Amino acid sequence: MMRKTPGIAITLIALGLAVGTVRASVVVSPDNHSTAGRRWLRKPIIISFSPSLASPPANIKSDSDVLGALRRAMQSWANAADVQFLETSTSTETISPPHDGDGVNVITLSPANAAVFRSSDSPGQTRVFYDSGGTIIEADIALNPNAQFSTDGTPGTFDLESAFAHELGHLLGLEHSAIIGATMQPRQAKNGVYGLPATTQRSLSADDQAHARSLYGPQNGSSISGRLTTNVAGRARMIYGAHVFAEDISGRVVAGSISNASGNYRLEGLSPGVYRLFGQSLNGAVAALDIGQAGTYFGLSDTTPDFRSFVGSASTPSQSLNVSGNTANRLSFFVFTKSPALTPRLIGMNAELSTAALPLKPGETFTIYLAGENLDQVTIEGISLSSPLMEIDNTSLKEEDFSTPYPVISFRVTVGAAVQPGDYSIRLRAADGELAYLPGALTIE
Ligand SMILES: [Zn+2]
Repeated sequence: MMRKTPGIAITLIALGLAVGTVRASVVVSPDNHSTAGRRWLRKPIIISFSPSLASPPANIKSDSDVLGALRRAMQSWANAADVQFLETSTSTETISPPHDGDGVNVITLSPANAAVFRSSDSPGQTRVFYDSGGTIIEADIALNPNAQFSTDGTPGTFDLESAFAHELGHLLGLEHSAIIGATMQPRQAKNGVYGLPATTQRSLSADDQAHARSLYGPQNGSSISGRLTTNVAGRARMIYGAHVFAEDISGRVVAGSISNASGNYRLEGLSPGVYRLFGQSLNGAVAALDIGQAGTYFGLSDTTPDFRSFVGSASTPSQSLNVSGNTANRLSFFVFTKSPALTPRLIGMNAELSTAALPLKPGETFTIYLAGENLDQVTIEGISLSSPLMEIDNTSLKEEDFSTPYPVISFRVTVGAAVQPGDYSIRLRAADGELAYLPGALTIE
C-alpha cells in the first residue's frame, strides 16, 4: 500500500509491489477452451477438513475462529446459489499434485503446502481438476503457510474468512472478476489498509452471486452477451480482455465479464430490471495482468487492442437495457481503438492508496483519493458516482502528494442514509470527453 508520505521518493518498482496482494490460483484442466460447464454436477460437494483447521499452524493468529470462518464462507456461497456443501474430515494435509487428483476436496492450512506458494504475499491457492467434459471432479484449497492470518482484523494479517470465501469461489469454478468490490477480484488487501479491517470480501458482491447463479441456479436468470470488435488498418479485430460490466438503476454494479479471445463477453445470472452497460480496457485497479494469472485468461497482459471506456447500448437513447425474466439479450459493440489517456489506477481513503474497494457507511462523509495518469485534468464536474444517493462536495477537489509517478486527487463524498448495500462505481470524464470508470470501487456493507 502507498501511504501519504510527502518527500519520500518511491520508485516504480516499489509501487508495483505496493498496490495490493495478488492472489494465486492454479487451474489444472485437460483442455483450455470454453468455460461453459466448468462446474460441479455432484450434489452435495463434499468438503474434507484437514486436521490443520482444528490445530492451526503458528501463522494463524492464536484463538482465531478458523472453523467458524470457513463454515461462514461456505454458507455465503450456499446462500448465493443452488450449492450444497457436505462437511467431512480427512487426514490429508497436502493438495493433490497437478494432473494427479485423489478425489478428496481438501482444505488445509498445513506448512506441507509451502512449496506451491512463490511469495508470502499470496494468501491462498485452489487447484481444480476437471474431467474431459469440463465437469469439476476435485478442488483443493491451501492457504499460504508463510502468510499471516487472523479473524479479528489484526493489522498486517489477511482475514481468514475473506480468503476462504475467495478460494471457495474458485473451488466452485468461478474465475477472477474485474469488479473492484467483488470477493473474486484478484487481490486481497491485508487488514490495516485504509486503517481498517479488510473484511469486505467476506460478503459476496452481486457480481460474485451472479456468477454463482449462472453456474448453479436456482434459475440461471437472464443474460446479456455480445461481442466487442474494432477495426485495425481496415480489418475487423475482436477485442480480447475487455471488461464489460452492468449497473442497475440504483447504480449498483450487478455483474461483470471479460471478453475472451473471440471478443465475446457474457453477463449471466441477472434478475429482471433495467441495466446500463459499460466497457473499459483493463488498465485500472484490476489490471489485465492480474486477470491473466490463471484460468481462461491465462497469459492476458493487456486488453488487445485497447480502447477508451464507453457507456453502452447504442440502440437506445437512454443508454439502458430493459431485461425481462429468463431472457437471452444480445448487445454487441463496435469500438474505436484509441489508447486510454485517463487511467485511474489506485483508490484510497484515510491517507492511503490501494486497489481494495473503499468501505463506506451510510450517513457518513469520506475523503476519497484517486491516483492515475491525467487525473489532474479532471474537474469536479467531471467526477460522478453511480449512486444518486452519494453526493460529491463540489468545493472539495484537491491535488494530493503521495510521491506516485502520476497525479493524486481527493474529494469529499457524503453517503446518504438510504443507500442500499452493494458496490458502486466512480465515473470520470476528462475535459476532452474521455471517460474512465472504477467499477465497484465503493462498497456499502
Ligand atoms: Zn483467486
